Amino acid sequence: MGEFDLIARYFTRPVHRAALGVGDDCALLAPAPGMQLAVSSDMLVEGRHFFADVAPERLGHKALAVNLSDLAACGARPLAFTLALALPRVDEAWLAGFSSGLLALADAQGCELVGGDTTQGPLNICITVFGEVPAGQALLRSGARPGDDIYVSGTLGDARLALEALQGHITLPPEVLAAGRLRLEQPTPRVALGQALRGVASSALDVSDGLLGDLSHILKASGVGACLDTHITSNLIAASDSPSRPICQFGPELIRQCTLAGGDDYELAFTAPQARRAAVASAALASDTPVTRIGRIEAAPGLRLVDAQGQPVARRYASFDHFATG
Ligand code: ADP
Ligand code: MG
Repeated sequence: MGEFDLIARYFTRPVHRAALGVGDDCALLAPAPGMQLAVSSDMLVEGRHFFADVAPERLGHKALAVNLSDLAACGARPLAFTLALALPRVDEAWLAGFSSGLLALADAQGCELVGGDTTQGPLNICITVFGEVPAGQALLRSGARPGDDIYVSGTLGDARLALEALQGHITLPPEVLAAGRLRLEQPTPRVALGQALRGVASSALDVSDGLLGDLSHILKASGVGACLDTHITSNLIAASDSPSRPICQFGPELIRQCTLAGGDDYELAFTAPQARRAAVASAALASDTPVTRIGRIEAAPGLRLVDAQGQPVARRYASFDHFATG
């Protein structure tokens, strides 16, 4: 099977929202009047972002999910995406799995594959997504103000807990490992929540490298500080709800590491004025996505962690950084 057969077979679909899809030199997109295009790229590299033996369906899902998560963080509605793919060889079973996981999520989110590039090389997947957001209404990192509440969607830390187990650092009960592995390999982008938060959240981003590191991007862009309630964030790890209570055996340190600096959560962290608490609750309900209030924005710069008694918790949790030297 050659390059063009491969593209035709696995990556060519009729388009409905785009003006022109796969097959010409460019795809053509027509954002609706009054809308801005929101554009983001994310690359997944074997050995760096995923294990070589990950199920191809899950990898296809994740490659698009991490990109949709960026659109969600801006409050954008997905429109289309391109796929640049380097493949070591033509493996049809792998391609069938990869494209079915990818396109199932694309269909579920109404996001059309409109083009890309295919080349031979070490496995590398780069997707660029295009979304639509009403002009001037994108959720940015720069809008947090002192007194705002800080929220996070869903759960935190389960992907990292699974990664620790897959790397052999800890042992987890099988059902807990399976659930965490699903979070790691097949994350859920919070697309509906992001759109529901337009006009409600004062700032937002998606948590991909770990809550503390990602939140500090909001603090820096907004010129503010924050106080986080770690007794609340520590309860957001889904594994703590498992009947086998695996969390008890690890103690608070590992739980804080996973929830505060775990990475691969793909939840939304956002801020909103206290006066908008009812609107935040409505957005959560409308998008069927749980959200939890985890702290508040303060004028004094820096990120302070406190426990249930309001006592400071030492901050020694590093988020993921590809080029960190420490
Ligand atoms: P060009 O030589 O002009 O770069 P290509 O031969 O690479 O074009 O691609 C032919 C068509 O197939 C283009 O429309 C391109 O967008 C599309 N395409 C290539 N690879 C992919 C892919 N992995 N997924 C979707 N579309 C692809
Ligand atoms: Mg090309």
